[in-house]
Amino acid sequence: LFARPWIFIRGVPSMKFLPPEGPPEVAFAGRSNVGKSSLINALLAQKGLARTSNTPGRTQELNYFVPDGYSGEGEDLPPMALVDMPGYGYAQAPKQQVDQWTKLVFDYLRGRATLKRVYVLIDARHGIKKNDEEVLDLLDKAAVSYQIVLTKADKIKPPAVEKLLAATAEKIRKRPAAFPALIATSSEKNAGLDDLRQAIQETVAG
Ligand code: GDP
Repeated sequence: LFARPWIFIRGVPSMKFLPPEGPPEVAFAGRSNVGKSSLINALLAQKGLARTSNTPGRTQELNYFVPDGYSGEGEDLPPMALVDMPGYGYAQAPKQQVDQWTKLVFDYLRGRATLKRVYVLIDARHGIKKNDEEVLDLLDKAAVSYQIVLTKADKIKPPAVEKLLAATAEKIRKRPAAFPALIATSSEKNAGLDDLRQAIQETVAG
């Protein structure tokens, strides 16, 4: 899956633009600037695929990526899709934009039967913040399975990463839809990427 190139197929501003349900999909969520674009690019080994460092909070779209080489017609569907969700928690975002984000994301989470798991990205320097908690609440409410991925782990020392992993595991322990295992990554140092790829493959296969 990850050995082949991936392509961007569609930006989805509202539910009616979603591709028809087909292959299993996993989605990536996180606060603006958490390192989501960098992680997706590193994961798929393609610089510039997910746009990095956009104006924070601007792209209110679900961006669809699939492995290349499938026509998408008839039975020739890609084996999975990866969905880049719009970043959240940008302090200067106007309320109307926050409301639009919440509606798009909640409609998607509730309505998408082929969504297998959401990977929620958390900055290893900061841990879970209040607006991350709100997103985890949304996921629990929508009963969508999710897994926490720490980003930018190279920015803190290994013992601090371990400490944050333990603290984060404790924070999510009682959440019904949370997958217990956590993954620490660094896009800069290519760390944890194989673990994440494997987790995704198991998720879409299961
Ligand atoms: P997004 O808004 O979540 O898509 O975040 P970006 O991927 O654009 O990254 C935000 C900033 O964090 C950029 O300046 C990146 O260079 C930096 N960054 C992203 N991932 C890493 C990482 O693994 N390590 C380090 N040191 N910096 C990172």
